[in-house]
Amino acid sequence: MEILKTPKEVREYRSSIKGSVGFVPTMGALHEGHLTLIKKAREENDYVIVSIFVNPTQFLPGEDLDKYPRRLQADFEICKRAGVDAVFTPNAENMYNEDEILIKAPKIKGYILEGFFRPGHFDGVLQVVNKLFNITKPTRAYFGKKDAQQLYLINQMVKNFFFELEIIPVDTVREKDGLALSSRNVYLSPDERQRALSISKALKKAAKLSAATQNIEEIKKEMIRILDVDKLQYIAFVDRDFNYIDKIIPDNTIILIAAYVGKTRLIDNIWI
Ligand code: AMP
Repeated sequence: MEILKTPKEVREYRSSIKGSVGFVPTMGALHEGHLTLIKKAREENDYVIVSIFVNPTQFLPGEDLDKYPRRLQADFEICKRAGVDAVFTPNAENMYNEDEILIKAPKIKGYILEGFFRPGHFDGVLQVVNKLFNITKPTRAYFGKKDAQQLYLINQMVKNFFFELEIIPVDTVREKDGLALSSRNVYLSPDERQRALSISKALKKAAKLSAATQNIEEIKKEMIRILDVDKLQYIAFVDRDFNYIDKIIPDNTIILIAAYVGKTRLIDNIWI
């Protein structure tokens, strides 16, 4: 497995290979969720490139950039075992210039929900993914539905900027008890982890209820009854294009939750 540190090294590697390339961008601290993306990329492409980069521009001041879990050696082992061909681990210096041309997330859908509570977050995400696409030139890029708004915005960027690649969405991978896997779960104490479970429970209940009623208020009330979090930021109902909806639309609804459990901010969603 190649370990590539600079965009130039990836360029050289990229021009040395022929065939389809599956690309999985990550911030590392790899878990079973990332691994599922990697496995899918492995099945569908001749080559697999994984990037591991804790991108500073998508963290707001005061967020967990400095303490974000970093486990590079363990991540390399996971990638090697999964049959990854190349891992790209740049640092901020070789990804960014001093006076950058910036990318702005769309005014509405980049600034509601996650974008409202983390203003500018998606500008940073789109900026880095744009660079990563240009550097790795993938045939297909794999993204988790766990970050549903990110997935939507990346699909928009691919359309708006005419990237010639396919975005492959991957279902959220969960622990046996329902907790969505996240690199941030390591922050949770045993009690917090137990209470974090109420998020996936509320979503599961919402999915069940939405088979019987389209009434969002009714569903939301039940979700709030189940949730045992410290600070609920939003429960939202949107369609697949992130338009707010006022009743459940079968096969075109995403229900999303963002909440703090202790000091840890968690997001999860369910696709109806
Ligand atoms: P991250 O390292 O958190 O930036 O995530 C890298 C990619 O893995 C993103 O496309 C995420 O949506 C995806 N991902 C993270 N957690 C999960 C999960 N539990 N199931 C599926 N994909 C995930």
